[in-house]
Amino acid sequence: PPSNGSGNETATNLVHDINYTNNQLVVSLDREVTPVISTLKNPERIIVDFPSTNFGNMGQVPSGASMGRLDTSEIPGVTEVRYSLFKSDPVQVRIVIELNNVSSVNYTQETIAGKFILDLSMVNQPTPATPVSSGKKIVVIDPGHGGSDPGTTSFTKNPEKIFTLALGLKVQALLEKEPDIELIMTRETDIYPTRSERVKLANDLKADVFVSIHGNSVTAAPQVSGTETYYYQRESSKELANIIHKNLIKALGFTDRGVKNGNYQVIRETTMPAVLLEVGFLSNKSEEEAMMSETNQNKAAQAIVDGIKEYLKL
Ligand SMILES: [Zn+2]
Repeated sequence: PPSNGSGNETATNLVHDINYTNNQLVVSLDREVTPVISTLKNPERIIVDFPSTNFGNMGQVPSGASMGRLDTSEIPGVTEVRYSLFKSDPVQVRIVIELNNVSSVNYTQETIAGKFILDLSMVNQPTPATPVSSGKKIVVIDPGHGGSDPGTTSFTKNPEKIFTLALGLKVQALLEKEPDIELIMTRETDIYPTRSERVKLANDLKADVFVSIHGNSVTAAPQVSGTETYYYQRESSKELANIIHKNLIKALGFTDRGVKNGNYQVIRETTMPAVLLEVGFLSNKSEEEAMMSETNQNKAAQAIVDGIKEYLKL
């Protein structure tokens, strides 16, 4: 139906408030509108455009090229939330959420009681660096690979990342019962934190121990089998490697291929005692079978936990 007065004024929607808390952008409007949402990379940004919309009676209304900003200094993962009158004819309000330490982000949107709500879930966001001061020992468990990085391929053509996560989660279940240990996982699902992100996580946390879990492979020689444990140069890492290795050999009974110095990024660039476990050879038919069995994974998990506790004198 035809409206009274000027068509433009009637058609223009107004923003009355913009708020960002608990990973939610909440925009109060005169009436419902479906914004156009897009994302940009480097840095990760979410752009929300409200068509035919201007600023209403907000405290500080940006005009022309000027921009308003929300104070997001206390919000982890968010660099800033800024808003502006992006176009003036026809009017269009743009809100940009700029994220940091986030490699990708998912969102859902809904409108409740005149408020537009954008609900964000950050993917692959390293835990913010918050050294815990509980007196507990901080242990970082790193199930190798994940997501886009399958790792090596097993005898039955399964990716290494399945084994590393399965064993990692069993270690997690045991360590979470330890009252004197604060456990941080580099991943708990099939995602790929980069090796640099894993290192940074452990270093920022000032972790006491870092354990990276892997499965070995040499497809050209499927008869090769056994457990290898790696450290990089530091004497403390070597000691941790010796203790966990001893426990793993005892628990699984695989061939003892020894404790070795290895130049791997996650044990080289971490600053605490750090080891990389090659629990066994996934390229070996019978060893893969053993490594994928629940019973042996439970034994290996217990051995890793026993080793960590022995090293930490807990
Ligand atoms: Zn690996």
